[in-house]
Amino acid sequence: MTMKIAVIGSGTMGNGIAHVFAQNGFEVALIDVSQEALTKAVTTIGKNLDRMITKGTVTEDEKAQTLQRITSYTALQQGVQEADLVIEAATENVEIKMDLFRQLEEFTKPGCILASNTSSISITKIASVTKRPDKVIGMHFMNPVPVMKLVEVIRGYSTSNEVTEQIIDLSKQLGKIPAEANDYPGFVANRILMPMINEAIYTLFEGVAGVEEIDTIMKLGMAHPMGPLQLADFIGLDVCLSILRVLHDGFGQPKYAPCPLLVNMVQAGHKGVKTGQGFYSYTHGTKDLVVADTFKK
Ligand code: NAD
Repeated sequence: MTMKIAVIGSGTMGNGIAHVFAQNGFEVALIDVSQEALTKAVTTIGKNLDRMITKGTVTEDEKAQTLQRITSYTALQQGVQEADLVIEAATENVEIKMDLFRQLEEFTKPGCILASNTSSISITKIASVTKRPDKVIGMHFMNPVPVMKLVEVIRGYSTSNEVTEQIIDLSKQLGKIPAEANDYPGFVANRILMPMINEAIYTLFEGVAGVEEIDTIMKLGMAHPMGPLQLADFIGLDVCLSILRVLHDGFGQPKYAPCPLLVNMVQAGHKGVKTGQGFYSYTHGTKDLVVADTFKK
């Protein structure tokens, strides 16, 4: 029998995760504390499916079936009670996640696998509030979920081989490519990406080169689809800062210390695309790249 899935959090990642599971034939309970977020998520999934119809990758019928497989809930207990796998994609806040996993221990079936899509919080720490640490695992999807192929599968200290294999098989069933990592700060993706972004910000801070030059060199020189400063704006500078702090605290090494320019920008509310200002200005949308006034020569 096909696994029943519950996704907690219907924001950027949660709606993408629900979309991908439903499109691949799974029944999905989508849960959020905010009814508004749930309504927005279903609209977003519908629009993303419409785009796929235009491209010829999905039919009208498949769209209708995908949407039909998703049921929205604001009550956690109701949403997770039937689930065989819960994927938590709520706000990146350790207290919120610990509280959710405490409740999941109580509300889910004993055999239910509990996964988190966290970018940086320790899976082992999250697992410690449950009585089934062998069934707690990281299932780290990338944004935008329907497009990006990778699932970083993170094994907590006590995650069993069986559960890891199940999540790897399931990721393949979704048409994704899983890659396994152990639970240490930043896992693999952010441990390597964030120091690169931080170094790009230091390079700007020290006046070695301007915003456009740094991004052009990394984009064209390394065949990256976007430069590290543009990518930082896209991820959110506050998110980058909090992940760097996790690396800095977790390893205690100065090489992970966030650049003071990044700290200042976040304190000033210049958090990238979501606030309209970062290394670039997005007051006219994200199509044309315009360097923010602060960094114009
Ligand atoms: P988001 O802010 O877009 O969405 C979070 C949602 O969680 C909101 O709708 C909020 O109402 C809901 N929520 C908060 N507390 C809740 C609770 N107790 N119960 C149910 N719902 C709750 O966040 P996001 O960008 O989708 O990130 C979600 C998770 O995915 C985070 O752990 C983040 O680190 C991770 N992640 C994000 C990205 C990314 O690029 N955005 C990439 C990979 C992983």
